[in-house]
Amino acid sequence: MTSFPEAARVELGNEQLRTNLRHATETIRAKRGRVVAELPDWEDLREAGKAIKEDVLANLDRYLVEFEAAVRQAGGHVHWARDAAEANAVVADVVRASGADEVVKVKSLTTDEIELNRALAEAGIHALETDFAELILQLDGDWSSHILVPAIHRNRTEIRDLFARTIAPGISSNDPADLAEASRLYLRERFLRARVGVSGANFGIVETGTVCVVESEGNGRMCTTLPPVLVTILGIEKLLPRFSDLEVFLQLLPRSSTGERMNPYTSLWTGVTPGDGPEEFHVVLLDNGRTNVLADDIGRVALHCIRCSACLNVCPVYSRTGGHAYGSVYPGPIGAILTPQLEGIEKHASLPYASSLCGACYEVCPVKIDIPRVLVHLRSKAVEAKAPVGERLAMGFAGWLFGGPRRLALAEKLGAAPLRARSHTGRLRRLPPPFGGWTRTRDLKMPVGASFRDWWKASR
Ligand code: SF4
Repeated sequence: MTSFPEAARVELGNEQLRTNLRHATETIRAKRGRVVAELPDWEDLREAGKAIKEDVLANLDRYLVEFEAAVRQAGGHVHWARDAAEANAVVADVVRASGADEVVKVKSLTTDEIELNRALAEAGIHALETDFAELILQLDGDWSSHILVPAIHRNRTEIRDLFARTIAPGISSNDPADLAEASRLYLRERFLRARVGVSGANFGIVETGTVCVVESEGNGRMCTTLPPVLVTILGIEKLLPRFSDLEVFLQLLPRSSTGERMNPYTSLWTGVTPGDGPEEFHVVLLDNGRTNVLADDIGRVALHCIRCSACLNVCPVYSRTGGHAYGSVYPGPIGAILTPQLEGIEKHASLPYASSLCGACYEVCPVKIDIPRVLVHLRSKAVEAKAPVGERLAMGFAGWLFGGPRRLALAEKLGAAPLRARSHTGRLRRLPPPFGGWTRTRDLKMPVGASFRDWWKASR
């Protein structure tokens, strides 16, 4: 695994990337600022979002079972997946059972997290990305660098040349409308013939078993309504208890992500309805490390995230390095706290340091995730994970020693006497190993004659 500093050094040399990033993040930041300022109760909405998410995590076991029952009641099928392999196997089985060898996909970070496309390809099934930016990346074998704008690092001319080589031979214009039309023509026919649609989800409603996807292009609506079979991969933390909770999140999310008052397309579906939409609906409830995150009292707030990407756009580190440097499908500040927890701090020990701890991410986060606090917490875990056994034992012993006043008093007495015996000048120039590092650049002052404890005892 390439560390963040190494990968960032490479990305910082890409001038095109930095220009695109600066332009895109500044534009979205300004739009977000304008629409957020319109709402006098924005801070109340943030508090409400945070409270709902805290409730979800505190009662996740109960909510998951209730959600499962509600989906089944509405005619859907529910599958539980402990990890990526199990989730991918469920999707592959459903696609095989439908007789299809291609699926159309809604943009989904969760499916990227489990590398669904690769797993389906190994099963002989082609997963076609239908989001404009995701399609660009798929056609070029590239990967996402921003949660909201995955192809932020590509420019129009590159996209025109790519389309000319792949889906639109002969295209000469790099006008955005012409590029969008080329992808529309290519995708429309595939939407119509697809037998299976695959989506992630922004929210799952416990009360009704409803699934919600918000998007900007309408391709998601095609994927979730045209194919007769629909499979949704839902991270277990995406639940909301009540339908009315959407009122809060459908205000917080679009304003924080695209800087819009509402999403152009908000799709909600509940099980299956004869004669309307898919005839078969499956939802895969995905853990893949989330229960480990939940077990960490400080780190669990990362599961509140609604993937708006506002923290990326204000982060002074992300806005210079871009997303690829993070080595994960979750870039930016949220990636720096989520990825090490999902995949292990040993594998991503450098990510918690990919931050200046300026706090801008916390200020914009619509669900008030205290990202700097989690970063500091994960830094201490990273240090612990890397420390040699001897150091860990020594620190554990020191913790035990300092943890009791009697123990500490005894240690002071026992430790001070031999130190004084070694020095006649009141200073010690060299300590024996393994403490020699302390005296390499400084002398050690001797303990004073009487300790504070002795003085306190004598003077009271
Ligand atoms: S951490 Fe907060 S600001 Fe960042 S993507 Fe998640 S919800 Fe948005």
